[in-house]
Amino acid sequence: MILEYDVVVVGAGPSGAAAARGLVNEGFNVLVIEKKKLPRYKICSGIIFKKSQDITRKHFGEIPHTAYATPNFLKGVRFWDKHGHFTDWPFSKEGDGAPNIWRSEYDSWLIKKSGAEVWDCCNLKGFITSANHVSLECHLTSRNENKEIQCRYLISAEGSRSFIRATLDPEFEKNLKWFIAYQHYYEGHSEIDPYFYHGFFDSQYGDVYAWFNVKDGLQIFGTAVIRGVKLYAYLNNYTKMLENKFGLRLRKLVRKAGCLGNDMCTTGRFYLGKENVLLVGEAAGFLNAFGEGISCALSTGLSAAEAISKSISSGDDTLALYTELTKLERRQTVVSWKLGAKIAGRNLMPL
Ligand SMILES: Cc1cc2nc3c(=O)[nH]c(=O)nc-3n(C[C@H](O)[C@H](O)[C@H](O)COP(=O)(O)OP(=O)(O)OC[C@H]3O[C@@H](n4cnc5c(N)ncnc54)[C@H](O)[C@@H]3O)c2cc1C
Repeated sequence: MILEYDVVVVGAGPSGAAAARGLVNEGFNVLVIEKKKLPRYKICSGIIFKKSQDITRKHFGEIPHTAYATPNFLKGVRFWDKHGHFTDWPFSKEGDGAPNIWRSEYDSWLIKKSGAEVWDCCNLKGFITSANHVSLECHLTSRNENKEIQCRYLISAEGSRSFIRATLDPEFEKNLKWFIAYQHYYEGHSEIDPYFYHGFFDSQYGDVYAWFNVKDGLQIFGTAVIRGVKLYAYLNNYTKMLENKFGLRLRKLVRKAGCLGNDMCTTGRFYLGKENVLLVGEAAGFLNAFGEGISCALSTGLSAAEAISKSISSGDDTLALYTELTKLERRQTVVSWKLGAKIAGRNLMPL
């Protein structure tokens, strides 16, 4: 049996949830497929910046208490230079600061609130596009079963390693440069202020930058390096510095996690889609400096929904509408990396 939907969204992160929410609001029949079991773990510092707070509140409501980690709110970012001096960048002039959340809880709440039908443990295996529909082949891993789905529009909200982008444009994919972001979660303690998210620019701790934050007592720290570079040498330098200067004491390793990111965001080579396939969030290249990506994931997801809705009512080209609607977000992404480089005093993405 072939199932039919107006739109299928691949990926249940913030960009997928926002696209689904916008489309359901407009009366579309939407299916979200997610390859992992929900709620799923996502490597992230889980800080909800002002713009993400505003979009979340407007389109989804107040973040539930169950999503918050302790401390519930962070005051700001504390950037450390290589001489051990710091500068604070407060998150807000008034209010509590930025919510410090667990992505598993925040993301699963968003996707539930989207109102779309959601299948987890469902991996997109292949797709074929034609003039007015897309045929998808999916694999339901928990049941080891294949499903065929047809839709009018397909949205890739798959994150940085988008299978849809790679399938649509293998040449584009070949030219991407990649970095690895990796972090440890430890039981233990430290003297570093847990009400700040800390960033260290000294290049002996990472090619991009190294970070530290606290969630529910866990000491979380990591770094990002060019793919192919020996990550552990940087992480060892960094861990030793945290032990010597900030009294970091590690008891038990609870989790280690890593992911790949690419240079689409810094080079401005966004990939917004092709015909009736749109890409949103990190799949399209939206990631701001210092790895803030939830705000642009939410905003581009909503823009994709708006583009589809407007295109159906006006007959205008969907991709052209989406390109126009994301103009400001694309400009802001590129500018954010320039600003980041100014703050750090060096190129933050030397890929
Ligand atoms: C270490 C680190 C810290 C960060 N900290 C912050 C922070 O504090 N604040 C912030 O704003 N941003 C932060 N970010 C960035 C943020 O996590 C991402 O930019 C954001 O999650 C992107 O959202 P997305 O919806 O585009 O993709 P994702 O959140 O990556 O979601 C993509 C989803 O698609 C699913 N998927 C992929 N392929 C398929 C497939 N073929 N079939 C089905 N499902 C599929 C994946 O399983 C995943 O659930 C951080 C990133 C890193 C690496």
